[in-house]
Amino acid sequence: MHVKEQLLTLKPYQPGKPIEEVKKEFNLSKVVKLASNENPYGCSEKAKQAILSEMEQLAIYPDGYSALLRTKLANHLGVREEELIFGNGSDEVVQIICRALLSPETNTVMATPTFPQYKHNAIIEGTEIREVPLVNGDHDLDAMLNQVDEKTTVMWVCTPNNPTGTYIKENVLLEFLQKVPKHVLVVLDEAYYEYVVAEDYPQTIELLKDYPNIIILRTFSKAYGLAALRVGYGIANADLIRKIEPAREPFNTSRIGQAAAIAALDDVDFVLECREKNQKGLQQFYQFCEEQKLDYYRSEGNFILIDFNRDSDEVFGALLKKGYIVRSGNALGFPTHLRITIGTEQQNAEIIEVLKEFVNH
Ligand SMILES: *Cc1c(COP(=O)(O)O)cnc(C)c1O
Repeated sequence: MHVKEQLLTLKPYQPGKPIEEVKKEFNLSKVVKLASNENPYGCSEKAKQAILSEMEQLAIYPDGYSALLRTKLANHLGVREEELIFGNGSDEVVQIICRALLSPETNTVMATPTFPQYKHNAIIEGTEIREVPLVNGDHDLDAMLNQVDEKTTVMWVCTPNNPTGTYIKENVLLEFLQKVPKHVLVVLDEAYYEYVVAEDYPQTIELLKDYPNIIILRTFSKAYGLAALRVGYGIANADLIRKIEPAREPFNTSRIGQAAAIAALDDVDFVLECREKNQKGLQQFYQFCEEQKLDYYRSEGNFILIDFNRDSDEVFGALLKKGYIVRSGNALGFPTHLRITIGTEQQNAEIIEVLKEFVNH
């Protein structure tokens, strides 16, 4: 059997440890998972109602074009319906972009560490990968531009960046986009868009008219709290969307996912409340880091990357025993850090207490 050689170098995605497994292993009755940047407040009640009303329709394929969600979202964002592409999570939009634009004849430029799915999918397409180290947690956009040549087809820009939570300021992004050659597609992954409060965070949809070579990725998995239903999307000019659409599976978003996403868009208050609570949660962690003199990155997402100055698996293991699942920095390219998802006020306070004990021993 001739499986693509590059696949043999890859591992399937390693998810955070499941709650049930940790309960059993450490004989715990309560386990809190702050590992996958999931919304600790769940999703909108409106979305739950919409899901229930789809139950009579499960024998029927979903609308592959997501027409109702498309109309709703286009209005919500102020874009044309033809400027949207939907994915089974924005993960799938990443995959579609790779299928459509990467091959062994091309190369692709990305930061490191960043969201791992860009590299993973690029490897599968057999393309050359050019990784540019972050500087103080930020994309080094000039160094990334230096890696571009006539064979470069895609540049990946994650803002806020996962796992650092850092974002690219409007003037910096604009200067960068002006320098990117027109044959290169710039992917702006804004999975945490709804959580951002920084005033100089760019409103990239407004840039679409001037830059036909950008695609913006967003998702219902994070602030909307619908990670289980897998709905993400890309926003780009209609010509590009038309060209990459054939790389999309025909029924890639589910009936339930589409219905829930439509309803979630009607509940603006839910998302705004989550953003506000997330800000308060970030403050809890900032205060802890300042008090304990730990380095961290200021985050515009719903997670924080903290440097504990020792092997991150050690801190990870200590937390696990106490019933807290976080993400060890070892797997993320930060071997002395932990990435912790911002939980509820109480969850944050509790994990901070455990961390204080650990740091002071
Ligand atoms: C979570 C995440 C995604 C993927 O989200 P989906 O659930 O596939 O929509 C994409 N990009 C970044 C940076 C993420 O953190």
